[in-house]
Amino acid sequence: MQSLISIRQHLHQFPELSGQEYQTQQFLKKQLAPRDPDYLQEVATTGLLVEFWSKRAGPNILLRADIDALPIAEINSFAHRSRKENESHKCGHDGHTAILVGVARQLAQHPPQTGKVFLLFQPAEEIGQGAQAVLNDPEFKKWSFDQCFALHNLPGYPMHQIICKPHQFSAGAVSVAFRLFGKTAHAAQPEKGLNPSQALSAILQLRERFTQPKTDAQDFALVTPVYATLGEKSYGASAGYAEAHFTLRAWNQEHLEQVCKALSHAVKSQATAEGLWLEEEWFEVFHANYNHPRAYDLVKQSAARHNLSWQEMERPFRWTEDFGLLSSTFTGAMFGLGAGEQTPALHNPDYDFPDEIIETGVKMFVEILSQAQYNQAT
Ligand SMILES: [Zn+2]
Ligand SMILES: [Zn+2]
Repeated sequence: MQSLISIRQHLHQFPELSGQEYQTQQFLKKQLAPRDPDYLQEVATTGLLVEFWSKRAGPNILLRADIDALPIAEINSFAHRSRKENESHKCGHDGHTAILVGVARQLAQHPPQTGKVFLLFQPAEEIGQGAQAVLNDPEFKKWSFDQCFALHNLPGYPMHQIICKPHQFSAGAVSVAFRLFGKTAHAAQPEKGLNPSQALSAILQLRERFTQPKTDAQDFALVTPVYATLGEKSYGASAGYAEAHFTLRAWNQEHLEQVCKALSHAVKSQATAEGLWLEEEWFEVFHANYNHPRAYDLVKQSAARHNLSWQEMERPFRWTEDFGLLSSTFTGAMFGLGAGEQTPALHNPDYDFPDEIIETGVKMFVEILSQAQYNQAT
């Protein structure tokens, strides 16, 4: 366990942002190659896929850890603090990675009895691009998976507690930029141009029309304005350009798509009415996480086998997780691992992954693997 803690703290000292995890990848290769996996492949440029095969037919099980850090300056002063000025592991992906290295060690000693186990060290989770990049990789495309699992540490919950629910687990989200092109004019003669300020203000109000803030409603939806700009700080000119950016979220993909369409339609009518040219760009797509009841049962049984405290969530989390694309492509489940009630929140500048829960994470994954293989065999 001590060496897994050292690995976690090493990763913490040398964080890398989404899509730039080159050193992390090389470091992990060095840790994993001596474990003699059946295959060890680079995937999605900066990720790794590590495979342990049995000699008997059985399920293909995928376990995922995310490996990227965030553009946040760490304010902690402990010895393993980030060595980089404005980058740090503030989501605990250093801990998730160490947990999956721990699972690889167990698999090296006790290879799967049936089927194949795939450990995916996934890059670029925070920007919602890693899972798609992995799915596009020919090395990954060769496989189909019977079940896939991932965990996320959760500050605010007792350490070692397992937090889960069947069906919807976390929201789906997508971001959009609307760009309004008008025409600048002399500030003394705005009528000679086309100032998009009225349209911008109306578009920002659309949030109210499309938001359903009640989290227990099936049609829960949040339309959050995140950025807006109008014209230039050039006081002789009437503005000729504006932008409004939003993040939209909902419990499931179909509903999210409906809200996106409705918002896009309303913005288009607004722009057309004002004679403005409109461009829209959609990005940072995060699929909702759907926990298949069978995969959820495995998580629950595994927690019970280790006498871990269990909390069934009443409603899904409002945050998003890139694993949603994998859990909606294959059957799977994601669960939370309590990181301590006093631990600072994810993405806080003083957050640090608690090393105490590494062992719990390893135990959960190893148990899920043996349950999945056993279930398939019986
Ligand atoms: Zn995060
Ligand atoms: Zn995260």
